[in-house]
Formats: sequence, structure tokens, C-alpha cells
Amino acid sequence: MKAYFTRAYTISASHRLHTGALSAEKNLTVFGKCNNPHGHGHNYRIEVTVGGEIDPATGMVINMATLDAAVSKTVIARFDHMNLNLDPLFAEKVSTTENLCIAIFNLLRTALKPAILEKIRIEETENNFFEYSES
Ligand SMILES: [Zn+2]
Repeated sequence: MKAYFTRAYTISASHRLHTGALSAEKNLTVFGKCNNPHGHGHNYRIEVTVGGEIDPATGMVINMATLDAAVSKTVIARFDHMNLNLDPLFAEKVSTTENLCIAIFNLLRTALKPAILEKIRIEETENNFFEYSES
């Protein structure tokens, strides 16, 4: 038996899609306006899904306060109102939302133990959604 709980959080952050592995011209071709040297921002909606057995005593998969505390400390404090490109996690990686999903998954997976982090889903815009899961 397994149940899932998903909770959403919002952060605002800026980034620039750019890689040192490509020329300036090629970066512009690949990333288009997202390669603007001055960057741009998003209001990222981050959905965190935790799975597991329901605790018979509490009736919950995870206490929401426990989840909120972990996300606040691990994700929101780190990325909200920040330039993602300046975070060490993106020193060698392009700050795409695919890579942001993975970064948040890896940070939260450790913070949430013993609860099981199932999935990170991020809405970057009203049309673009990204997901990362290892299951
Ligand atoms: Zn962007």
C-alpha cells in the first residue's frame, strides 16, 4: 500500500540559458531569447510529491509541517529571489528547468529521509512543465 501527497510552493528566480561549451553565436541559436545576457525571471511553481505508507497513528504519509520545513530550508531559502546561474549547482550545468528539477530532487531527497521523495514537477510558465523522478 502506498499513498502520495503533493504540495506546491512558489519561488521567483532569474536565470540565463548559456553554456561555455558553445560559442556565443551557437548559444543564441540554441537558447534564443533565453540567452539574453541580462537574464530573465520566472515565478516557478514547484510541486513536491512524497510517497509511502500511511502512518496508522496519524493517517498521513508525511506531516505537512515537516515537508514545509524541509522545502523552506532546502529549496526556498536557497533559490527564492536568487540568480540560479550563481548557485554552485549550476556552475557546470545550464540552468534549465530540467536541471532545476534534478537539483531540487537531490537536495530534498536527503532532507526528507526517511520519507520517500517521488517526484518534482515544476511549472516554469503556464505552458511549460518539467518533471523529474527516479522511480
Ligand atoms: Zn527562463
